[in-house]
Amino acid sequence: MDLIAGRWAEAATPDGELENRSPADLSAVLSRHAWAASQVDAAVLAAREAQPAFAARPVAERAQLVRAIGAVLKRHEEELARAIALDVGKPLWEARTEAQACAAKAGITADDGLKLVAPFPAPGQAYPMAECRFRALGVLAVLGPFNFPVHLPNGHILPALACGNAVVFKPSEVAPHAAEIYARCLQEAGVPDGVFNLVQGGARTGAALAAHEQVDGVLFTGSWGVGQAIARATLGQTKLLALEMGGKNAALILEDADLDKALYDTLFSAFVSAGQRCTAASRAIVVGEPARADAFARRIAALAARLKVGHPLDDGVFMGPLASEAALLKFEQGQPGPEVESVLASRRVEPRGLHGCYVTPGVHRVHRRTGSAYEVEELFGPDLAVHAAASIEEALQIANATAYGLAASVHTASGESFERCLRDLACGVVNWNAPTVGASGRLPFGGLKRSGNHRPAALWSTLYCSAPVAVLKGEPTLDRQKLAPGVTWLADGPALAVVDE
Ligand code: NAD
Repeated sequence: MDLIAGRWAEAATPDGELENRSPADLSAVLSRHAWAASQVDAAVLAAREAQPAFAARPVAERAQLVRAIGAVLKRHEEELARAIALDVGKPLWEARTEAQACAAKAGITADDGLKLVAPFPAPGQAYPMAECRFRALGVLAVLGPFNFPVHLPNGHILPALACGNAVVFKPSEVAPHAAEIYARCLQEAGVPDGVFNLVQGGARTGAALAAHEQVDGVLFTGSWGVGQAIARATLGQTKLLALEMGGKNAALILEDADLDKALYDTLFSAFVSAGQRCTAASRAIVVGEPARADAFARRIAALAARLKVGHPLDDGVFMGPLASEAALLKFEQGQPGPEVESVLASRRVEPRGLHGCYVTPGVHRVHRRTGSAYEVEELFGPDLAVHAAASIEEALQIANATAYGLAASVHTASGESFERCLRDLACGVVNWNAPTVGASGRLPFGGLKRSGNHRPAALWSTLYCSAPVAVLKGEPTLDRQKLAPGVTWLADGPALAVVDE
């Protein structure tokens, strides 16, 4: 159902129905949601009407509301986690970390995010007082991806609310159930009617919302292709776009790295969430003789083959299914040709006899780079390509040989080598002896090149949810000693006279 102006309702004249089947068991229909693009108009109108009064509330009150949302999300953590697990196939242990991150975001936003948009003075100016203030943008559209269907939209929504905006949220069509639970939490926390609205739907609904004339900003997390479509559709408009997009991330394993640690970190980075993280490592670049990369590929393949693939609610499962049949097909179609050595072939499986979107991990060894789509495009599934590099310079060159620039990891005992890599890696996240998927909500999070549009999220999300306003405060009365050259003041005259020499 949709939540518009505080009321739960389905479209009176639906355009279609979203059938939510769990990728863990395609025979199970989790829910059905009618959708209609016309709901977008109603939701945007509700947001428009509610926003000015909400923005007029003191910031401390809005911060308190965000904390209250965090407390409600914490209470519903398990319910949210189970819904996420069933909607997108993430193992429960992992879905729980997503649900926990949602509650944690509230405190980070209220404590630290709002500090970034607190007024600050500019001393030493010609005016008695100069300061920067921040204002809300207005109505913000939040478009969510399937892989973190609650945490990432929540990462836009809480800062948007804290800064005084109203929100219309269109979740991924793959996870309508988790999104509905999330919306009910916001209602329970006391978000005023119309300040937060939920509209279910797919690409058509998303496109209608993003391009809506009454939407002041689009906070989007998803693929480069859709991010581009949004940028094109809004070209003649003045709205803010915060686009968090894909990645083609590399783990660099230097010659002095602790090999077991590098293997574990890379294994985790490549296959957690079945490879469906924007920060997933899809490439391991092993510095040294090619034989070192061969051995690395064989060892990681042996480890990957032992990862437990299964139903997301089963104990001890590392990898659930891919999130949908579409994701499964895309993954299979993105497999490389015979020019790339298959060290461990990915294959469909049916754990416990379940018909779902399950695949096992794959590992490939790229001996000769050709710039193929497999090498440079995001595959978004459990696959790792292992490359050899003769030097750190070559490893950096391979790592940067993609149009994406989201995350990288560098595995080395040397601080100097890490600094060398940090300087040259064109990425927004560079981790040292840690997985590529490691990220902190207390730091900015965003990518370069096709991975973002220079508006990092996480800690910095309050910055794109508000506009800085420069304010100069002058003297309230005229000081006649300070007239500009060429101005003669007429004491009794009705106006200033400018003497034109
Ligand atoms: P997607 O781009 O297919 O969809 C994202 C959202 O956009 C969905 O809600 C979808 O319904 C909507 N949408 C689709 N077409 C639209 C259009 N024309 N106009 C407006 N909205 C439209 O992404 P996905 O498949 O759900 O998620 C996976 C992608 O997200 C991957 O590329 C991944 O790397 C990326 N991602 C990026 C980050 C990040 O922080 N950089 C985080 C998570 C995921």
